[in-house]
Amino acid sequence: MKILVINCGSSSLKFQLIDSDSEAVICKGLCERIGIDGSQIVYTPEGKDKVTKVTPMPDHNRAIELVIEALTNAEDGVVKLEEIGAVGHRIVHGGEKFTKSVVINDEVIKAIEDVSDLAPLHNPANLIGIRACQKVMPSVPMVAVFDTAFHQTMPEEAYLYGLHYSYYEKYGIRRYGFHGTSHSYVSKRAAEVLGKDPSELKMIVCHLGNGASVSAVNGGKCVDTSMGLTPLEGLIMGTRTGDIDPSVVEFIMKKENASVAEVTNILNKKSGVFGLSDELSSDFRDLQAGYESGHKGAKRAVDAFVYRVVKYIGAYTAAMGGVDAIAFTAGVGENSGFVRGLICNRLGFIGATLDDEANKVHGEDKIISGADSKVKLLVIPTNEELAIARDTYALCK
Ligand code: ADP
Repeated sequence: MKILVINCGSSSLKFQLIDSDSEAVICKGLCERIGIDGSQIVYTPEGKDKVTKVTPMPDHNRAIELVIEALTNAEDGVVKLEEIGAVGHRIVHGGEKFTKSVVINDEVIKAIEDVSDLAPLHNPANLIGIRACQKVMPSVPMVAVFDTAFHQTMPEEAYLYGLHYSYYEKYGIRRYGFHGTSHSYVSKRAAEVLGKDPSELKMIVCHLGNGASVSAVNGGKCVDTSMGLTPLEGLIMGTRTGDIDPSVVEFIMKKENASVAEVTNILNKKSGVFGLSDELSSDFRDLQAGYESGHKGAKRAVDAFVYRVVKYIGAYTAAMGGVDAIAFTAGVGENSGFVRGLICNRLGFIGATLDDEANKVHGEDKIISGADSKVKLLVIPTNEELAIARDTYALCK
């Protein structure tokens, strides 16, 4: 079956067409600047050159039409419309309602709407993507795959904040966690690479991308993760603060005469390694270059980033009463031997050692721990689209 995977944001839409049998990507692409001047669709059919078409995209309906056109046109198309057997949608927030992927029906759409106040930037955009696909492909089954679902096994002691309990009861304020599809995929794949069943392993997954999170996966189940009610909590990220004292918000508001929205924007967009490096960059390639050439801000930012990751690894080792394996994934985790090295060289306290030669790996499954290491260290490239396609196929075949 050919599965179309859709990841719909407020002004962009990423897509992949995946063959469920071979798990090959038949075409992948991106619609950018939806609803804004200068919109374009960029896509790469398997084995062919990248195609860029600058064309008006006033809304997501038009974007989906263009995706279908890109996939089915006579010139460089890769399928017939009727060959698309199902659509899998990435949905950011499933609240407590969704603990796994589900076939989309009116009730599911209503439930995604109901938790939209928990992800006001993301869920409405995800819903627009669902509705646009339903318009163009009314008879094709669709599946919702939630970023929060994998973390729903967290125990109460891990997901509750130390807030008055009534806020949890009234508004659902608790830790939900994100990147769940990635943490689930990587923890399973890491077990496979180690030749073990997930049920035998205490694992820590470090998803280090522009957004970054760590999770503790005990026996295949998530027991804690670093992101919270929103993706702002936890690690220091590309431009997000991660954990801070909430009083900082009021403090900056008073000092800079700023609104809540302005400070929230600072915490999400102007902070993290970008802010700490004196705005050198949020990209770890630039930060590594800066670090190595003596840029003080780059060193400060990378050191703080690494320290926070190590702290979480320590905390999750305690939470699980030990750790057997630590897996690194996403843009930084898969590609930066430099950052992995800085992290792993501080893990002597759990008996972990790094194989420097193996750590030169880029973007492929690899065990990077030394032969004498008490904890296995691994690089596992994430593949959220494939995970979404697998869930979609499983529910629609
Ligand atoms: P997201 O999905 O959160 O946008 P990604 O997982 O794609 O992020 O990661 C993007 C980040 O990965 C970039 O901002 C950059 O910091 C980092 N990155 C990508 N390639 C490399 C590399 N070769 N070396 C170091 N960092 C890299």
